[in-house]
Amino acid sequence: MKHALIIIATCLATAAAAAPSGTLRCDKLLDVKTGQILDDQAITYSNGIVTAVQPAASLPPDAHPATVHATCLPGLIDAHVHLTYNATDEGYNGLGVSIPRQTVNGVHNARVTLLAGFTTVRNVGADDFTDVAVRDGINAGDIDGPRMQVSGPPLGITGGHADNNLLPYEYHDTAMGVADGPWPARRKVRENIKYGVDLIKIMASGGVLSKGDTPGAPQYTLEEMQAIVDEAHRLGRRVAAHAHGTQSIKDAIIAGVNSVEHASLIDDEGIRLAKQHGTYLVMDIYNDDYILQHGAEAGMLPESIEKEKGIGRLQRENFRRAHAAGVRMAFGTDAGVYPHGDNAKQFAKMVQWGMTPLEAIQAATLGAADLMGWSGKVGVIAPGSYADVIAVAGNPFDDVTTLEHVTFVMQGGAVKKTD
Ligand SMILES: [Zn+2]
Repeated sequence: MKHALIIIATCLATAAAAAPSGTLRCDKLLDVKTGQILDDQAITYSNGIVTAVQPAASLPPDAHPATVHATCLPGLIDAHVHLTYNATDEGYNGLGVSIPRQTVNGVHNARVTLLAGFTTVRNVGADDFTDVAVRDGINAGDIDGPRMQVSGPPLGITGGHADNNLLPYEYHDTAMGVADGPWPARRKVRENIKYGVDLIKIMASGGVLSKGDTPGAPQYTLEEMQAIVDEAHRLGRRVAAHAHGTQSIKDAIIAGVNSVEHASLIDDEGIRLAKQHGTYLVMDIYNDDYILQHGAEAGMLPESIEKEKGIGRLQRENFRRAHAAGVRMAFGTDAGVYPHGDNAKQFAKMVQWGMTPLEAIQAATLGAADLMGWSGKVGVIAPGSYADVIAVAGNPFDDVTTLEHVTFVMQGGAVKKTD
C-alpha cells in the first residue's frame, strides 16, 4: 500500500511540473546585458524554457503569439527575503505566531511576491524548516510563488542575532540555529542540509531587530566562520553572512562567504577585500524608511528603532561608496521586515544612492542570479533560461519606480498576472 501511494505522489508531481510552450510578443524588450530596449520582440518557449528570442517580424506567418503591449524584462530576483515572516510580527508580537502559522504566512507571501514581479528569491532565515516546505510546495505546483533557494534556520551564537532573546531564563528558549564553536557549527550546517536547505545563513554580527545585542559588534569569530564556510562549501552549499559591523564584514569575507548581507558599516578595507574575493554585497537600503515610520506599531522594540537610526543613513552612504568602488552587488531587501510585495521600492533608493536604473536592474537580475549560482537560468531571457518574463507600462530607464507596478507576470511560460 505504501508503494502505491508513492507512485501516485510521483505521478502528481510530474503532472504539476508539465510546463507550457508558446510564444510571447512584447512591444518592447529590455535586454539586461546590453541595456538596450528592443522593439517588437518574440520570445518562444518550450516546456517552460526559452528556445528563441527574435524580432516578431521574423516569426512564421502562422504563429499567433500572445502579445504584451508594454516593456518586457526578465522576472526579478530578490536575494534577501523572509517569506514566512510578516512585518506586523516584530518583537514580542512574534512570540504568538506558531511554526505552522509561519508556513501559512509563507504560502501567502510567496504569491504576493511573485505577483509583484519577483519570480525568484533567496530566503535567508526562517524558523524550523518552514521555508523548505514553501519551496517544495511551489516546486510541486501545489502553490504559486517564486523559484526559491532557502537557508532554513540561520546559524548564530548564544544570545546573538539568530537566537531568541525575548524571554527570561526560566523559559530556556534557544533558537534552532544556535551553535557555538567550530564543530557544533559544522554539525548545524550538516543538520540544515539534512533537512533540505539550499544555502547556509549565518549571523556574523549583531542585528537591529534582536534584543540586547549591537549591530556593529562581532558575534561569530573568524575561526567559527571558517569552519562553517569550509563545511558548507564541501557539501556544495553557499554561505550568506548577516554582518552590519566593520570587523565582522571583513572576517566574513576572509572566511570565504559568498555574500555579505546588510554590510552597513563596511569601510575602505572591507570594500577592498570584497573586490579581491569577489564577494557579493546585498545591501537592503529601502527598509530603513519603513522601520523608522512603522516599526513601533509593528512591535519593534524601542532599542531596535534606535539601532536603525544609528546605521540606516550610514548604510546608504556606504552603498554609494561600495558601488562606486566596483564591488559586486545583488539586489536584496529583507522583505518581511517591511510588507511583502513592496520589494521593488528599493530600486528608487539604489538609483538615489548612486546606481543607474540599468545597474539597479542588473543587480536584481544578472547579479542576484550569479550569486545564487543560477546564471543563464534566471535573470535573463535567452535560450536555455526559464520563460520568466514580467512587463511594466513605462520605461524603467526614465522612471525606475515603474517596476513597482508590474502589469504582467509569466513564470516558466505560465501567465500568473495580466492586466
Ligand atoms: Zn534578513
